[in-house]
Amino acid sequence: MSSIANTHNNDSSGANSGANPESNSDSQNNPQPALRHDLHYDLHSHSTLSDGTLTPEALVRRAHAQGVDVLALTDHDVTDGLAEASATAQELGLRLVPGVEISVTWSGVTFHIVGLNIDIEHAGLQAGLANLRAIRTARGEEIARRLEKHGIEGALAGAQAFAAGPILSRTHFARFLVDAGHAKDMRKVFKKFLVHNRPGYVAGEWATLEEAVGWITAAGGQAVIAHPARYRLSATRLRQFIEAFKECGGASIEVVSGSHSAGEAAGMAQYAKRYELLASCGSDYHGPEQSWQELGRPMPLPEGCVPVWQDWGLEERQQVQQVPQEKATDG
Ligand SMILES: [Zn+2]
Ligand SMILES: [Zn+2]
Repeated sequence: MSSIANTHNNDSSGANSGANPESNSDSQNNPQPALRHDLHYDLHSHSTLSDGTLTPEALVRRAHAQGVDVLALTDHDVTDGLAEASATAQELGLRLVPGVEISVTWSGVTFHIVGLNIDIEHAGLQAGLANLRAIRTARGEEIARRLEKHGIEGALAGAQAFAAGPILSRTHFARFLVDAGHAKDMRKVFKKFLVHNRPGYVAGEWATLEEAVGWITAAGGQAVIAHPARYRLSATRLRQFIEAFKECGGASIEVVSGSHSAGEAAGMAQYAKRYELLASCGSDYHGPEQSWQELGRPMPLPEGCVPVWQDWGLEERQQVQQVPQEKATDG
């Protein structure tokens, strides 16, 4: 936290990822207008309340330092980090979107559904999330039992030591296993222990797609398919999933994700258009250790996407320039 706390104390424009070179002779001190049409969005991130390694406050400070204007905190199955994140965001003038990432089992596969702009007081949503946390705890105990059979002692306490919040995830087991010398790094540890056909794998039975989208929608939010390219589905299965998601009332798909290549983003933009889904973008940031996923680094949405934030009222639309041009061609 302290390493980035000193980056916010004066001019925020210097933090905008180098897009605004200071070598120009332009000597204006305050070049930014009050309303902009180029806000920088990162709508998927994690804190220590789930499996991230930065506290909500440190996460928001880092997002601000990275030039993010609008940040969604989307911890797995928990919203407890949002109060702290919101207080820091207010201090920095950053817009915080209350979010969550819900684990779903659909057709035997685990999916993640992000909820954006949720009312965190909603009782139905919170009851659902509490149930998922209980499932996670039971799964964690079973992972530990299986690892013990494999000769690894103390995995439950070890994983819990890495979990600062109420969520026990495979990532916490992974950090324990790496720390205890059972694997070299976070990428290798999953393949060695925590995925299908490995000693510490336990299939979770999470919320149904209907439940997850229903809770989010009932809480006034927009449901978003998280990192759709990461599930490695066939085109047919992905289409079936998207159709089921639409039928449940799902609104949006993460076209741009920290775990998508440019080609995958282009492919997901096609699905967004075809299924009339709003397009979202998010880094899925978990902490500075995962240097390939930085806050605010997702590329812009591909041409033709309708952004999930289009009706949030945060931006000045660029109509001033467009309207006269259209009229001119009429004449
Ligand atoms: Zn996810
Ligand atoms: Zn995530």
